[in-house]
Amino acid sequence: MNALDLYNSRIKNLILFGGFITILVSGVWGSHYLVTGSPFLFTINSLSIIAGIALVVLALRGRLRTAAIIMAHALTVTVAASCLPDVPTADIQRSVHMNLLPVGAASFLVFHREGFYLRAALPGAIVLIFLAFALNLVPLPWPGLTAPPTGRAAGVWINYVTGTVGASVVIAIMQTSMSARRTLENDLRQAIARGQFYLHYQPQVDASGRITGAEALLRWQHPARGNISPLEFIPLAEETGLIVPIGNWVLREACAQLAAWAKAPETEPLSLAVNVSASQFRQPDFVQQVKSILSLSGARPSRLKLELTESVLADDVEDIAARMQSLKDLGIRWSLDDFGTGYSSLASLKQFPLDQIKIDRSFVQDFLTDRHSKAIIDTIIQLSRDLGFSLLAEGVETEAQFVALNAAGCVAYQGYFFGRPGEIGALESLLESFRPAAAEKPVSRARPVSVQTALPSP
Ligand code: C2E
Ligand code: CA
Ligand code: CA
Repeated sequence: MNALDLYNSRIKNLILFGGFITILVSGVWGSHYLVTGSPFLFTINSLSIIAGIALVVLALRGRLRTAAIIMAHALTVTVAASCLPDVPTADIQRSVHMNLLPVGAASFLVFHREGFYLRAALPGAIVLIFLAFALNLVPLPWPGLTAPPTGRAAGVWINYVTGTVGASVVIAIMQTSMSARRTLENDLRQAIARGQFYLHYQPQVDASGRITGAEALLRWQHPARGNISPLEFIPLAEETGLIVPIGNWVLREACAQLAAWAKAPETEPLSLAVNVSASQFRQPDFVQQVKSILSLSGARPSRLKLELTESVLADDVEDIAARMQSLKDLGIRWSLDDFGTGYSSLASLKQFPLDQIKIDRSFVQDFLTDRHSKAIIDTIIQLSRDLGFSLLAEGVETEAQFVALNAAGCVAYQGYFFGRPGEIGALESLLESFRPAAAEKPVSRARPVSVQTALPSP
């Protein structure tokens, strides 16, 4: 199980724990207030039970973030409302507010990667509400609302137990995932120096199936855990800022490869696409870094393609376009990754000096079976022609997909059908094995025979 799965399973356990405890505790108190005739407290506890059931259902269905957000808000409101009638007397102190402790601890630990509101404002508000009740700063409610005296002495004891034990369980559940994350972060910090990163290359082909270049995909060989997917460590690298040295390492490796290819006429025309993550692109000296890596390596800028995702383009349009343009002036090309998964429209992309758009593989996979995906791809192909972007379909896995996309007018491809990401040697032998005997073509075809015969004539 990877660290992300471990983290999610902890959150799920936490929500299930919160949901079941809420149902149990509110069930007991709700019955108590039904018997002692306190309609306000009975209603609050009934609402808590409904929230508890919703949490369990959402957690079991895997809707963890939604469940966590509902849990934090619903429990804060219901516990705070239950605190109101908990009026202190000469012999009985306030105690219901103790149940805010596990709610606050859970919010603080679960939302540490979220935006300001969930990460800081919400846990902060819970702490303030807790203090307001603990220090008796809340005005007393109207007399009819005060909780009935029966059972209140036992209630104090119960609330202290549920509050402190609940908070301890929350911390214990979350602690394991935090420490797994911290270990991964430390390992990531040392991975460059220890030479644990390497690149895989996945071929990119043109409409006739000929290899025109590759995408460089980062791999991390962890000494104890084996290969760790970039889907797991890139988000962590982004959060910790480690993406900057890691991204520079990828660029240096890719440029060194381009410089090596430039030495042979058969490989000289090949291009290499490199993924640039959002936080890497936002670094103030990103443009300068790319320029210096390029000039030190000796690679030709026109062979380098940088891939951005739509999220990068959401900020300050002028600044982003200017940064892109200054690298484009050197000859570097820009490609937009995973197109269709974000919110940008093709027309809005006209503001950026993009050269290529990569249609996300989710559309490609459904292209033959789902008419909506087909309509989306047809529209993207048409509009990209009008706007002057070249188009690459990602994740092509079958010949049927390739043939159909070709017929629709797509001009470049990448996917398992043409080659999986692999060592540089694998890519070069793919080039080698399909190289025509008479060197009339500078680069080779990934799928020379079967696909060629299936293609419509140009
Ligand atoms: P991506 O840029 O969309 O890369 C393509 C991913 O799709 C790769 O996964 C590749 O192995 C996979 N793929 C390629 N063809 C097919 C196919 O036909 N079918 C299917 N099902 N999958 C296919 P990978 O290598 O695990 O990379 C995942 C993501 O990690 C990349 O998605 C990219 O966002 C990120 N990444 C990888 N290397 C780097 C890097 O050097 N820097 C940054 N910032 N991100 C990187
Ligand atoms: Ca990519
Ligand atoms: Ca992609």
